[in-house]
Amino acid sequence: MRTSGVAPGTHVSAMDTGGDRVHHEAMSQSEPGSVRRPSRRTVLIGATATTASIAGGLLGSGGAAADDHSPAPGPGVAVRPQRPDRELRRLLGELDRGRVEETVLRLTQFGTRHTLSSQDDPVRGIGAARDWIRDQLQASAAASGGRMTVEVQSFVQPAGGRIPVPTTISNVVATLHGSTSPDRVYVVSGHYDSRVTDVLDFTSDAPGADDDASGVAAVLELARVFATRPTEATIMFVAYAGEEQGLFGSQFMARQLRAGKADVQAMFSNDIVGASSAFDGTPPDPRTVRLFVEGVPTAETAQQTANRQLVGGENDGPSRQLARFVQDVAQNEETGLRVRVIWRRDRFLRASDHVSFLQQAYPAGRFTEPRENFNHEHQNTRVENGVQFGDLPQFCDFGYITRVAKVNAATLWSLAQAPGTPKDVTIVAAVLTNTSTLTWTRGAEPDLAGYEVVWRETTAAQWTNVIPVGDVTTATIDLAKDNVHFGVRAVDRDGHRSPVAYPQPSG
Ligand SMILES: [Zn+2]
Repeated sequence: MRTSGVAPGTHVSAMDTGGDRVHHEAMSQSEPGSVRRPSRRTVLIGATATTASIAGGLLGSGGAAADDHSPAPGPGVAVRPQRPDRELRRLLGELDRGRVEETVLRLTQFGTRHTLSSQDDPVRGIGAARDWIRDQLQASAAASGGRMTVEVQSFVQPAGGRIPVPTTISNVVATLHGSTSPDRVYVVSGHYDSRVTDVLDFTSDAPGADDDASGVAAVLELARVFATRPTEATIMFVAYAGEEQGLFGSQFMARQLRAGKADVQAMFSNDIVGASSAFDGTPPDPRTVRLFVEGVPTAETAQQTANRQLVGGENDGPSRQLARFVQDVAQNEETGLRVRVIWRRDRFLRASDHVSFLQQAYPAGRFTEPRENFNHEHQNTRVENGVQFGDLPQFCDFGYITRVAKVNAATLWSLAQAPGTPKDVTIVAAVLTNTSTLTWTRGAEPDLAGYEVVWRETTAAQWTNVIPVGDVTTATIDLAKDNVHFGVRAVDRDGHRSPVAYPQPSG
């Protein structure tokens, strides 16, 4: 196990600084010598000294062949991808393509899973699908030693919009309770309701194989393999209903979590993750998954807007940091997928369950397949002029869905085993200087080792440079905050890095 290399006693106590109408859809060993460590609470990182001394021992997390990892000229070393740890590699190997296929096929056999379809027919309709999903999750929870609990979260959605009469909507939720940071929560979901051409038609067959049995299959498989091992933070595995009618299931749950002041640090919707080919004459793309993430937060407050206008950060909202984290931990040969991040909340004029979380100011993103075929989405099953319409399992690629599940698994495992995203991160702006001082609040994780400051040119998409600063709550970097973007991430004793927090200006 790597340790932080930070001498005991160097901790500095925390400073007190501060439905859519659309479709719904290192520390590297922070070698003591690498950081000039003044006796006070500030470490000043000088460009030359840091680069020279850190460049020797570095960055344990490196190694993956990815794109270009050249650091920008200045302090710190190149940011390298985080490699899957041994337990994660084992977990990834347990994700089972055969089970994914069985789940997708079984879900298509309920005829329709329309939110307005029968809730009590044991064979056909959304109620039968709900019970089957619950049974699958309960079977997984049975292997968790009591760490995983399953609930059916039901509520009555009043009439309105695409809900003609008051309708009971049920989310099926498996919660894997964290061992050391149970109050820190990550959510991963698919939606189990389905639809055809007319969104109010709840009787026609709506197999919904790609949209979104594929996402539910990924979530069920994740729950099964995660249930057998403890995680430090809590993960909720969710199958939502009401998505096609207006994101109602996820909206209810996100509001509940917000009302309960839940610390949800990431949410991912897996919606239409079933096909690697569009069957439209274009080449298949079985090695890419898209991840949609917004820039300026949907729920940005007036104060945040004012700050953003004063200091920038349009591309540094928490969901964008999450996407950078996903590429950091999940884009590698173990998952077999390239994560194509798209800087947009969702596809044109569309939405999925992640939007419900964005509306509650939780960071969130949406995974979806590389190229869709709209003949297979939201269509009555039929053949017209020799063309097959409908969301049928024959258009799914179960190996592809399994790889998408691996990307989710690598992300969730890395999130749940790493420290939480640093909180109260500020950049001191009261005095005009050409250095930059960052402050944050120390996390409470028992295995927390310290922090790293990351930075990049303002025009760069990814963090390029990392500076280990040790177990402190403030650091001064010899770079002008006017010229670059800074962030802070936490590191634990095993070398797991958290997502990056982007600082807000403080006086
Ligand atoms: Zn969908």
